[in-house]
Amino acid sequence: MSGLVLKDISKRFGSFTAVSHVDISVPHGTFVCMLGPSGCGKTTLLRMIAGLDEPSEGAILLDGADITPIPTHKRNLGMVFQSLALFPHLNVAENIAYPLRIRGVAKEDQKKRVDELLQMIHLQGYGERPVSKLSGGQRQRVAIARALALSPKLFLLDEPLSALDAKLREAMQVELRQLQQRLGITTIVVTHDQREAMTMADTVVVMNGGEIRQAASPVDIYRNPADTFVADFIGSTNLLEMSADSAGRATILGKPMAGLKLPTGLAKASVSIRPEDLHLTAPGGDAIDGTVTFIRDLGGTIETFIDVSGQSIVAVSTPRARPEVSVGQKVGVVLPDEACVVLKR
Ligand code: ATP
Repeated sequence: MSGLVLKDISKRFGSFTAVSHVDISVPHGTFVCMLGPSGCGKTTLLRMIAGLDEPSEGAILLDGADITPIPTHKRNLGMVFQSLALFPHLNVAENIAYPLRIRGVAKEDQKKRVDELLQMIHLQGYGERPVSKLSGGQRQRVAIARALALSPKLFLLDEPLSALDAKLREAMQVELRQLQQRLGITTIVVTHDQREAMTMADTVVVMNGGEIRQAASPVDIYRNPADTFVADFIGSTNLLEMSADSAGRATILGKPMAGLKLPTGLAKASVSIRPEDLHLTAPGGDAIDGTVTFIRDLGGTIETFIDVSGQSIVAVSTPRARPEVSVGQKVGVVLPDEACVVLKR
């Protein structure tokens, strides 16, 4: 396969396993985000792809060739890590030209390539500027241009946007994705920001405890989470306990759920239902009865919190579909079968 393949990669530091039996295929030209909480092993995995750490087990293949024993500088990678490490004493053009100069590219060709790269990152005319006189976003783009100067096969980025403020970060996410699509370069980004991953990735790889919990498209990860960790980590969700009643039928919070089944052989499971999939209705019918405890009006969305026998459930709606309820009111909560994802506990 052309692209990157990780085959049963593990990494141990002494007796501690940071990455455990990871298998991933990243087809050529795709954008993968590795996402997970702090300490889940995503940076360690990226460092192994970069050749900065050696796997304890497993192999790394790039376009079919085993690169596991190949040192970083011979892997044909572009890297942008959290600390940008632009050279403060060099101007923008000199920073971008640095890898070309080290490679011994002729002066004229360096200039041509730098001009192309400045255009690519929308910083034409900035070549002479000292990097200290750039904004955070501009510095980020210079780091990206420098990493891409030698047209690498693989582009690796570790939390590249985390130092930027929220608005700029969102704009840069779109910019980075568009750039990647234009260049068609295989790209792997480590992030702990799920919105960032959902914005940019073809495939989101969700990790926890050194293991891959799910690797799928953003929409699939959101709609069909593989387990309760993924359901809870991506977006917000209501995780409800589902159990069998005396007749073996599935119930949630005491209500029979005719359209749902417990996994074979299990008396209990979890159901994940997204807040925007819940409907509120009058109490006393087929729905689950509860009491409104809080309403959060965020302008664009309204969150209604409902207490059902001590469990808090949140429903989200747009202002136009705002439920006509107030705090203290009794309501019925409808869980549409098709929106319920049944997961093992
Ligand atoms: P963060 O988002 O906080 O950067 P991460 O998911 O990138 O987290 P890693 O940096 O990959 O996590 O670390 C995974 C685990 O491996 C952590 O528990 C970390 O303490 C441990 N670890 C990483 N590098 C080393 C090392 N050189 N020696 C010992 N343990 C390490």
